[in-house]
Amino acid sequence: MLDELKIDESVIKLSKDMEHKLQPVFKEIDEVCEYNSLKVLNAFHKYQIAEVHFNMTTGYGYGDIGRDTIERVYADIFHTEDSLVRGQFISGSHALTVTLFALLRPNDTLLSITGKPYDTLDEVIGIVPNDSSLQSFGVKYEQIDLINDDFDYERIENRLKESFIKVIEIQRSKGYSTRKSVGIDKVEKVVKLIKKISPNTIVMIDNCYCEFVGTKEPTEVGADIAVGSLIKNLGGGIAPNGAYVVGSEKLIKLVAERLTVPGEGKEVGPSMGMNRQLLQGLFMAPSVVASSLKTAVFASLMLEELGYEVEPKYNDKRADIVQNIIFNNPQKLIKYCQGIQAASPVDSNALPEPWDMPGYTDQVIMAAGAFTQGSSIELSCDGPLRPPYIAYMQGGLTYEYGKLGVMKAISNIKD
Ligand SMILES: *Cc1c(COP(=O)(O)O)cnc(C)c1O
Repeated sequence: MLDELKIDESVIKLSKDMEHKLQPVFKEIDEVCEYNSLKVLNAFHKYQIAEVHFNMTTGYGYGDIGRDTIERVYADIFHTEDSLVRGQFISGSHALTVTLFALLRPNDTLLSITGKPYDTLDEVIGIVPNDSSLQSFGVKYEQIDLINDDFDYERIENRLKESFIKVIEIQRSKGYSTRKSVGIDKVEKVVKLIKKISPNTIVMIDNCYCEFVGTKEPTEVGADIAVGSLIKNLGGGIAPNGAYVVGSEKLIKLVAERLTVPGEGKEVGPSMGMNRQLLQGLFMAPSVVASSLKTAVFASLMLEELGYEVEPKYNDKRADIVQNIIFNNPQKLIKYCQGIQAASPVDSNALPEPWDMPGYTDQVIMAAGAFTQGSSIELSCDGPLRPPYIAYMQGGLTYEYGKLGVMKAISNIKD
């Protein structure tokens, strides 16, 4: 059957050896999974999740007890006062956009301390001019780059002492950059520093791809507000779309009133049949994240063994589910992505090619044969066509399917 999937004989042999070596890493992943499963289960019990919460509302969505209870469960998991978990967010970028527009006013300053934010935010912030950007409303933007994959504590401190910064954004996952992702310990350290100098500065976290990778979320270590996509980690591969924002009651109210209507906020927003999937997705999320992590470390070790540069290494401590393979070669990047596509359950016959995707500056190749369009908690691999030609691979609803995808992709670059 492996022959039928056109997996190379040598790849099968190598995978057996490598999998053996990975057992201690897998055990650690399982332990984190167990911890986060307990966290989810306790939250479900605390708010007495019941069949009634699977019911839906339409139209305005008044009195949607399922939706309201899901938001309490999320707040509990993130140790925040409140949350907004909505299908009306069409993506993670949309939730980040709504949050930034909710928190910032003309003449306020947004400061990113993890370098340039995710590509899709370029036009939101105004780094790339757009008539609807924050900049077009008079919001100022500044950026401090990471140094040696850590915060530039000195520059951050000096800048905060200079004048008031309204919002500091920390993007934990690397996006399409070449830096490392930011672990929770570093987030904790920098938030302490920020709060010491400027307690009223809002610390906002782009938490995409990082949920349930460790045992602590950024709002447990002092961040004011965190944002993420439901077609990534917390949707567990089951949520059909949506995003979440968690934070204090005051900040969530601002975000809700920007998403819906000032004066109506969280009270409106029909769940239209999604509640059951959001709950089941959250229930599955710890183990789906664990499968994604196992797929990532498997790929990391296999490709390192074959002489490719990888980041992180298989035994590095991880902050997110993303695995980078630095190909230094456009053809290999394309071939690898095409291999991932060919091993997908859906659209396996499609051959992905680089294209000019809306919201991105360079051409991007994206492999995703997913049940949910654009879902990257399902095994997916993408990368901008620019040196050093890095593949960003993430997801894997089960480790078994993830492993097959990686084996197929490796066979594809061997040809
Ligand atoms: C995926 C991602 C986003 C949002 O992406 P969408 O595709 O719009 O959901 C934002 N920031 C980071 C770091 C991401 O990985």
